[in-house]
Amino acid sequence: MLIGLDLGGTNIAAGLVTETGELLYKKSIPTGAQRPSEEVIKDIYILLDELIDYSDEKVTAIGIGVPGLVNKDMSIVLTCKNLNWEHVPLMAGLKNLNIPIAIDNDANVAAYAEYKIGSMAGVENAVMLTLGTGVGGGIILNSQEFRGGFGLGSELGHMVIGPNFYDCNCGKNGCFETFASATAIIKYAEHLIETTELPSKLRSYETITAKDVIDLSKEEDVIASETFARFIQYLATGIVNIINLIDPNKIALGGGVSGAGDYLLSNLNKAIEKQLFLADYDSAEIVISSLGNDAGIIGAALVAMDHYK
Ligand SMILES: [Zn+2]
Repeated sequence: MLIGLDLGGTNIAAGLVTETGELLYKKSIPTGAQRPSEEVIKDIYILLDELIDYSDEKVTAIGIGVPGLVNKDMSIVLTCKNLNWEHVPLMAGLKNLNIPIAIDNDANVAAYAEYKIGSMAGVENAVMLTLGTGVGGGIILNSQEFRGGFGLGSELGHMVIGPNFYDCNCGKNGCFETFASATAIIKYAEHLIETTELPSKLRSYETITAKDVIDLSKEEDVIASETFARFIQYLATGIVNIINLIDPNKIALGGGVSGAGDYLLSNLNKAIEKQLFLADYDSAEIVISSLGNDAGIIGAALVAMDHYK
């Protein structure tokens, strides 16, 4: 038996996962991200201990996915912006569990889950993009998780695409995720509301979600349509860069925005086709990821299993 844990800014979700990637039992607790890291780690320890007790079989490895950067040997969280963590020795804080632990970036483990049992199953070269608060990227290269030379690969959300009207939370301007995330959609719609006279139902909304914008764009609402068109344009640019760089067989889209499904895919494919310079040849098929929110738990467990094989 394995345990996968998905450490998020809002919730910590963990579950018992079989070696074939089946999620048998899941439990979630609030993160309390404003607290010091020691307290969050204490809660993680208690949650893991509870799952170990709950399992009928011996737990052989624990995987933890975090929304940040992890060192090459999967023991230390180097930085994690939405938890305010800098250089946190997470593995050391859990050593009394006496079970091998592997810590990895959350987008990497989600990609690994999709590669092992989901929308990219068995695809030798594949990329997953999670379109949520930010844009996460995970790469499968030659049937292996790609973590790069220093363990920091692959921050696809911080590829610089072009100048933007607001800065990324990494401190730079022009990152992919400031154009192609749910946050980017909301910010651009709000920007148009504030800086133009364009008509829109969104003007009467107290808060705007990415889903509101996408739904209204189907009704040809002016601001929603312009926002969605811009999002598609830049998402296509980022994807074309990825295709030009590594030529994957498949690219899976996950995260909240991927809920737009076929509407997203049909618009995106048209935009990609226009931008591809190798348009006459076969290129990556774009699909929607299949494991949903559980990809984080399942992927973390499977990464840990394969790491300690
Ligand atoms: Zn950035």
